[in-house]
Amino acid sequence: MKEYHPPLGDRSGLRLDFNENTLACSSKVREVLAAISTAELTKYPERAPVEALVAKQHGLRPEEVLLTNGVDEAIHVLCQTYLNPGDALLLPVPTYSMYEVYGSSAEARVDRVQAGENFGFPLDALIGAITPQTRLIAIANPNSPTGQTVIREQILQVLEAAPHAAVLIDEAYFHFFGETVMDLVGKAPNLIVARTFSKAFGLAGLRLGMLAASVEQMQWLRRVISPYSVNSLGLACLPPALEDTAYLDWYVAEVNAARLLFEEALDRHGITRWPSRANFVLTRIGVQHRRFVEEMRERNVLVRDRSSDPGCEGCVRITIGTHEQTLDAVRALEETLAEIGWKGKR
Ligand code: PMP
Repeated sequence: MKEYHPPLGDRSGLRLDFNENTLACSSKVREVLAAISTAELTKYPERAPVEALVAKQHGLRPEEVLLTNGVDEAIHVLCQTYLNPGDALLLPVPTYSMYEVYGSSAEARVDRVQAGENFGFPLDALIGAITPQTRLIAIANPNSPTGQTVIREQILQVLEAAPHAAVLIDEAYFHFFGETVMDLVGKAPNLIVARTFSKAFGLAGLRLGMLAASVEQMQWLRRVISPYSVNSLGLACLPPALEDTAYLDWYVAEVNAARLLFEEALDRHGITRWPSRANFVLTRIGVQHRRFVEEMRERNVLVRDRSSDPGCEGCVRITIGTHEQTLDAVRALEETLAEIGWKGKR
C-alpha cells in the first residue's frame, strides 16, 4: 500500500499546507457549539434529519445524500463498496492521494493515467484505460495538487464510457470553482458526487463530508458505512454552517482575490505555476524544493512539498488564505527566494 503522511501534530505557523480554510468557520457555528446540550452528547448521533436538510439545500432527495466523516471516509466507503480484489480503481494522476490508499487497502489494482500537458485532464487516455475490471473511477474537480478542472462535457463522456463503474466526482474545492455536476445526480446512474465541509466552510476539525448519488447506489453505500461515523457535534454544526451563506461567499471571494495576488507574485519572480480554480496554487521550484519548504517554515509559513507526485518533480503546493495572510505569504516567499539564491525559472 502507498503510504500517506499527514501531519498529526506541530503545525504552528501560517498553515498553507493542507488547503483548509485558514481563518475560521461561521460564527453561527461557534454559537451552536457553545450551546450543545448534554443530551446531544449522551445519545448516539442522529444523522437522518441533517441528511434531509443537506439534501434539500442541494435540490436532492434525502435518500440521495449520505453524510460522512469527511470525504476521506466517503472515499473509503466507496472503495469498500465497489472494489473487490482483482477489480480496478482508475485514476487520472497526479491526484488526491487517498484514492490510491483506500483503493489498495481494498486489494484492488490501481490503474493510473498520467495527466496531459500542463496537467490537463487526460480524457482520451482515461477512456482508453477503462477495462471490464474498472469498478471505480475517481476524478477530483478541481483536482489536487494541480488546481486543474474538468469540463462537464468530459465528465459526461467518462460516465457514458464506464456504465459498469461508479464514477466519483470529488468536488471538495467546488466553492472556489463554482461549477458542479450535482444536478446530474439521480439522472446519471453511475455518478457519485462528493463535497466536503473541510475547505471553504472551515470545519476540517469536525470531519464532515457528503456523498450524493442515485438511490440505487446509495443503498449499497449505506450498507457499508458505519452508522455513527458522523458525530453529534458535526451534525449540530452543519445546519448553521449551511445557513450562513454570507460568510461562505465572503470567504470564497476573499480567497479567489488573494489567489490572483499570490499568482502575480509568483509571476514576478518567474516561478512556474499552473492556473488554479481552487484555494491553492501548484508551483515548480525545482531542485531546491526541500530547502524552499524549510525556508518558508523558518518564516512561519507551512507549504506542501508535492515533488513525489507523478509529474510533479520539484513542485510545491501553497494554500491561499485571506488577503492579509497572502501578503505575509508573499513576504515569506520573497525572503525565501533571496535566501535560496533564486534566479528565475528552473
Ligand atoms: N478530496 C480532495 C480532492 C481533497 O483535497 C481532500 C482534502 N485534502 C479531501 C477529499 C478530503 O477532505 P476531508 O477533509 O473532507 O476528508
